Parts: sequence; C-alpha cells; structure tokens
Amino acid sequence: DAHCCLCLPDEAATIAVGQALAPLLAPGLILWLDGDLGAGKTTLVRSLLRALGHAGPVKSPTYTLVEVYAVSSLYLYHFDFYRFNDPEEFVDAGLGEYFRTDAVCLVEWPAKACGYVPPADVELVFRFPDAPADGRILELRARSEAGRQCLSRFRS
Ligand code: ADP
Ligand code: MG
Repeated sequence: DAHCCLCLPDEAATIAVGQALAPLLAPGLILWLDGDLGAGKTTLVRSLLRALGHAGPVKSPTYTLVEVYAVSSLYLYHFDFYRFNDPEEFVDAGLGEYFRTDAVCLVEWPAKACGYVPPADVELVFRFPDAPADGRILELRARSEAGRQCLSRFRS
C-alpha cells in the first residue's frame, strides 16, 4: 500500500499535517488514528476541524465515544474507543450508523473496536521516537483506492 512517514518535531508540525489533510477529506472517508495516549491523535483532529472552519471547542470523545461536527459542508464524526473493554461495545452503542457515505469518520483507538469498526481508507500511526529525540513519528498508510488518492494529493 502507498504510505509515507513524517517526522513531527513539535506540536506545530502535527497541526500542519491536519491543515494539509483538511482540504483532501471527501465524504465517505474513514481515517484511523493509532498511537498511545498523548501521541497527538486528538491534536491532529482538532487541527483538521479548525482548518475546515470549526470555531468552537474540539474535545476528546473519550467519554462520549463520538463528537459530531457539521462544517464546510461536511459531516465529521470523531470517535474514541479507548474506554471499550470489549469490541462489541461498538455494536451496543449503535455506532455503525455513523459510518455513512456522506460522512467523514475520524477514529481514535480503532483496535478497541476490532472486527466491528469499518476498515480505514487512511491509517495514521503515531509513534514516540527513541530517546533522546522528542516529537513524534507519523506514518500514513492508504488502505483503499480512495485512501490512495487522498495520500497522493497529500504528498504532492
Ligand atoms: P492523543 O489524542 O493521541 O491521546 P493528544 O493530541 O490529546 O493525544 O495529546 C498530544 C500531546 O502531545 C499534546 O500535549 C500536544 O501538545 C503534544 N504534541 C502533539 N504533537 C506533538 C509533536 N509532534 N511533538 C511533541 N508534542 C506533540
Ligand atoms: Mg485523543
């Protein structure tokens, strides 16, 4: 699959990736955001939403499971499954109905809903570099034709 790997030396670099991705989001796209607590997943989503023109707060959906946004003629759903004890909680919470062709879905901790959350078009994996380096390493992987198109535009 098409992929690229970026060094993000500071928070501003994470925000810049969100700003670059924002205009490439098309309805139906599913982005998975993987990486440990504090890796920068919510920071990137916040930057995406801000770049699209969302002026209000962007809080982590850790407790609500999903936060809903309608901005720049897009529906965006931001999920966080960190607190799931069992992937079936995805079904119990009725979250499948959010994954529509007219919506963009941004999913933190997708592995916690493994087997139920729909597959990603683009997977973003955040890593912490080995000490003494700080910042983050971000890998972007296309997982579908739509994802490949998004990523090739991102790289150009
Ligand atoms: P997550 O949603 O992955 O748990 P958050 O986005 O809530 O993480 O928090 C990430 C933290 O790391 C924030 O304090 C943010 O300022 C910081 N951060 C984001 N990107 C970088 C980066 N590239 N380098 C260093 N710190 C970063
Ligand atoms: Mg988060």
